[in-house]
Amino acid sequence: MNFLHERPGYHSPMTYIGAGASPTVINKFNSGIEDAWSGPFGQYDVRTKVVEGYENTIYVPSITTERSFVYSDNDCSGAWDPVEEGWVAAHEAGHLMGLPDFYRDINGKSVPMPGHDKTIMGQYGGDITEDDITMILFYNALSSTSSYPKIDPPF
Ligand SMILES: [Zn+2]
Repeated sequence: MNFLHERPGYHSPMTYIGAGASPTVINKFNSGIEDAWSGPFGQYDVRTKVVEGYENTIYVPSITTERSFVYSDNDCSGAWDPVEEGWVAAHEAGHLMGLPDFYRDINGKSVPMPGHDKTIMGQYGGDITEDDITMILFYNALSSTSSYPKIDPPF
């Protein structure tokens, strides 16, 4: 049995702040998240919709000099580069849902960790896997009182 099949839908409340958070940029990021995080992933059937809310707050500067990130200590805020494409927002949304990076920077090059080639948290342009959804459900179950419970009840 899996809950996502019984009650598909994942609502990800997001607020974007900062001079770079234009309607065009917000739409690009939200579309990137919704497109990537919707679909059949192994045993799971997932539909993702970004809605407005304060669970996740992302700062979008007008000009940025650093890589987009989500703070690892709270998993609900960060700063995203407005010039990045939708895939980057989908990767960062993975962090918002509790997933870690599955790559390492080696000599200035991002290298997927073993078993994470072509996955959303392991390699640029990678896809979501069944394991990613399993981990998100696991984190949700572990941290029902933290900032993680972002999958609607009764999950
Ligand atoms: Zn990352």
